[in-house]
Amino acid sequence: MKIITDERCTSYCHPGHPERPERVRDAVAHLKRQKELPVTWVAAKSADDAAVKRAHSPRHIARLEEPIDFDADTPHFNGIGEYARCSTGAAIQAAQLARAGEMSFSLMRPPGHHATRDQAMGFCYLNSIAIATLDALASGVKRVAVFDFDVHHGNGTEAILVNHHGTAFFSIHQHPCYPGTGAANVGHNCFNFPVAPGTPHREYRAVFSKALDGLKKFKPDLIAVSAGFDAYARDPLAQETLEAEDFHWLGEELRALGTPVFSILEGGYSEDLPGLIFAYLQGLEGK
Ligand SMILES: [Zn+2]
Repeated sequence: MKIITDERCTSYCHPGHPERPERVRDAVAHLKRQKELPVTWVAAKSADDAAVKRAHSPRHIARLEEPIDFDADTPHFNGIGEYARCSTGAAIQAAQLARAGEMSFSLMRPPGHHATRDQAMGFCYLNSIAIATLDALASGVKRVAVFDFDVHHGNGTEAILVNHHGTAFFSIHQHPCYPGTGAANVGHNCFNFPVAPGTPHREYRAVFSKALDGLKKFKPDLIAVSAGFDAYARDPLAQETLEAEDFHWLGEELRALGTPVFSILEGGYSEDLPGLIFAYLQGLEGK
């Protein structure tokens, strides 16, 4: 398993905000401590302008430098543009590693799947998964499927990729929940799988299976995973029921598709996040 990270991504924070540096810091410590899963650590590089501009407007890129909060959930931080570029660069590296036959995971913050072309929101500033997807297409991959299992709908990814040739988006998320979108399919390539709050985890797995069946039919050459761990039973930001074993199962299911796959961290706000990531990575590696 190649894990891309950079300790700079733990150097900004807003007191009391759930998207906090410990999410990544504790996960790195956990993965360095364990001996079962061999890990090669890769340093993250910043995404360049050309890559970022495939998904975002020049106005949005300039806005990241203006020291004004984006909304109540999404504060401005000094240097947030560079932190977001670093997280996005790690997603691109993860995609490149997957294409070279490696299993890869980007363990970075900020997350990205709520960021639209013109708007930072929901703790997200640049849409890393969309940028990595468009970068893969630009470098010759024909078909990229995005699989988003964060408990929140990936509204930004959907808005950027809708009807974009060569892409398909599959999101499984609690509904109703933030940001309120994702109740129905959109365009010809965005498939939404809303799940009611408190859905038992076996039923939640059945919805994952349905989404994966749809993904298989798309016949992707590359699978980009928005890996959020906030559908966990004890996550403070949602009301779902998944356990570590469910994330392990999901990793196994993605591995079984036999298609190059890379994953990037999106949400996940419980103190158990390191163990949930570890379970998922173990499943991806068939352990
Ligand atoms: Zn989330």
